[in-house]
Amino acid sequence: MQGGEHVIVRRIPPPEEEHACVFREAEMQAIPLTEARLLPPVNPSKIVCVGRNYREHAKELGNEVPADILIFLKPPSSLLAPEGRIVMPKVSHRIDYEGELAVVIGRKCRNATDNEALSFVRGYTCANDVTARDLQKSDGQWTRGKGFDTFCPVGPFVSDEVSPEALDLETRVNGELRQKGNTRDFVFSLPTVIRYISSVMTLLPGDVVLTGTPAGVGAMQEDDRVEVSISGLGTLTNFVVAEGRWMSSELERAISR
Ligand code: MG
Repeated sequence: MQGGEHVIVRRIPPPEEEHACVFREAEMQAIPLTEARLLPPVNPSKIVCVGRNYREHAKELGNEVPADILIFLKPPSSLLAPEGRIVMPKVSHRIDYEGELAVVIGRKCRNATDNEALSFVRGYTCANDVTARDLQKSDGQWTRGKGFDTFCPVGPFVSDEVSPEALDLETRVNGELRQKGNTRDFVFSLPTVIRYISSVMTLLPGDVVLTGTPAGVGAMQEDDRVEVSISGLGTLTNFVVAEGRWMSSELERAISR
């Protein structure tokens, strides 16, 4: 807080800038957060996601709790900034929110052990693993259902000041609580997840890992406001629009206030 307003006061430099000092903190000028338009706080080469990593969520969709870790990818082109519009593609009739803890990788990571896995993490943020549930089921694999443009809102900031073992996560739609979970209920711990993924593919600085969603997933509708909140990581807010349509003027006014 500064002068009664929220301002950005600290910037974690991306790993590739550690020694380059592209931005010098002393030269940065604080601006009110309300005047800032935030971009996605990550620039990943890939977004790796864990499916069914909370028991109650696996059950609610009629699935077994997996014996092994289940991973899939979302393309970097699906990234969406805080306050950005999630576009519902016309080919889907069921678009779900999935509030998730996102992990941002800080160092090149290949074949990490459980013990060293968290040392590769740069920080944490909120994400929404937006899913075209009907296409995910009908396709039999998940690339299309998870991969549309705007299907990966991330933010509002990356923090290295939280510990991932027991973070509260809540998802709200139009202010109504829909998901309430805690990362202590992961089926597979974060070190296990990073060890597993890095045994398959090299994780690069800036890559993002979505860690799965708790129970309570559900459909979003046109003009909905969707918020994912995680303790210590703020709230990621996005709005839902139908492909080829503008938002209602009422919602447009609310956003621009
Ligand atoms: Mg998910």
